[in-house]
Amino acid sequence: MREFDLVIVGAGAAGLTLAHFAAKIALPGIGPPEIALVEPPAGPARPGDRTWCFWERGPGPWDGVLAARWDTLSVISPSGARHEQAIGPLSYKMLRSRDFETHVRAGFGPNVHPCAATVTAIDDGADRATVRATRPDGAPVSLGAAHVFDSRPRPVPPGARTTLLQHFRGWFVHTEDDVFDPGTASLMDLRTPRPRTGVSFGYVLPTSPREALVEYTEFNRDVLDEDGYEAALRRYTGQVLGLERFTVAAREQGVIPMTDARFPTRVGRRVFRIGAAGGATRPSTGYTFGGIQRQAASVVRSLERGRDPVPPIPHRHRHLAMDSVLLHALDSGRLDGAEFFARLFARNDTREVLEFLDGGSTFGRELAMGLTTPVAAMSAAVVERALAPLRAGAAPERHPR
Ligand SMILES: Cc1cc2nc3c(=O)[nH]c(=O)nc-3n(C[C@H](O)[C@H](O)[C@H](O)COP(=O)(O)OP(=O)(O)OC[C@H]3O[C@@H](n4cnc5c(N)ncnc54)[C@H](O)[C@@H]3O)c2cc1C
Repeated sequence: MREFDLVIVGAGAAGLTLAHFAAKIALPGIGPPEIALVEPPAGPARPGDRTWCFWERGPGPWDGVLAARWDTLSVISPSGARHEQAIGPLSYKMLRSRDFETHVRAGFGPNVHPCAATVTAIDDGADRATVRATRPDGAPVSLGAAHVFDSRPRPVPPGARTTLLQHFRGWFVHTEDDVFDPGTASLMDLRTPRPRTGVSFGYVLPTSPREALVEYTEFNRDVLDEDGYEAALRRYTGQVLGLERFTVAAREQGVIPMTDARFPTRVGRRVFRIGAAGGATRPSTGYTFGGIQRQAASVVRSLERGRDPVPPIPHRHRHLAMDSVLLHALDSGRLDGAEFFARLFARNDTREVLEFLDGGSTFGRELAMGLTTPVAAMSAAVVERALAPLRAGAAPERHPR
């Protein structure tokens, strides 16, 4: 068995972020940690390429590899009212998973040991845990460490009152004419037809006057089939955006559970969960990348100080409670989701909404924000949610290719 200080299981956003920052610290009495980063070979366990959007105040660690960034965001109401706002000092940033991975791997020093293997079991212990895995040639491998961080996708744990799916497909479009404003990203364009339950919206992330990622998204319980997403995107690009001559260079699709289930991050004396599997996804939005960054920063601080490195859920309790109410209100059909989001952005400073979503707002500000939303529907949802039974979990995030 090979021994390490840390074993990180999975080299997605969470595993790579933690490896990147943890590799640079010194553990008390030890020095730079020896880290094994275990990732399966290409195959069904590996998630497909994806594009992450997130926001940050000022410069950030991934600025050198961003695909795009925007300082102005727009939200468009169902009737077409456009709310556009400069968000400085925040920026909305786009990062492609492949660029991120190449960049992070290129920066690894000799203390990071990538290991191509599929983890089959993790055995906890008092002082060390053992990760058991299988190499691509079928050979078994065992890795021991004082701390194991596991980012493998998990089913949603039991104990959810409401679990919706954020499901979406995007087209990377190339147009023949200059039609996009690369200075502005649309966050939500609510001019899409209201689905039977939940809410739908489109958005446009332009990377040049002729190139953009155009997405169609729904928050509800049931994913669409192939034809359903294609039809929704044809309708959105044609009837709503009025795009005429364009080609689709690539597609991106995904499903992210939006759930009020609680995700335990400590699953053994020496074993912890991180990333989407460790509760990093904000239930009301599906945004995860920012939470992964905060969670990794906290783990690294604990390791540096010789503390138990339990990954925190990177969202405040009261925000999770608010999100639970919103999920219930959307699911029950009491709330017109399009009206809710349009009003939230039209009547509040977009920066304050983004800060709220990152956990940086004050309670007073949140109360004021709450009063700009449909109060009657939300109050009814608070009561109904409190009475709602706890249900078993749903399927984890899927990765269609
Ligand atoms: C298409 C798509 C777009 C998204 N866009 C955004 C966005 O714009 N902004 C945002 O904030 N969030 C977004 N998300 C949500 C979230 O940020 C991503 O899902 C993110 O990739 C989660 O990272 P993770 O490391 O937690 O999990 P994953 O990326 O799922 O990583 C888990 C890792 O575990 C590995 N693994 C699995 N099984 C094994 C095994 N047996 N042994 C070893 N390793 C294993 C996998 O290969 C993988 O590398 C998006 C999600 C999808 C699907």
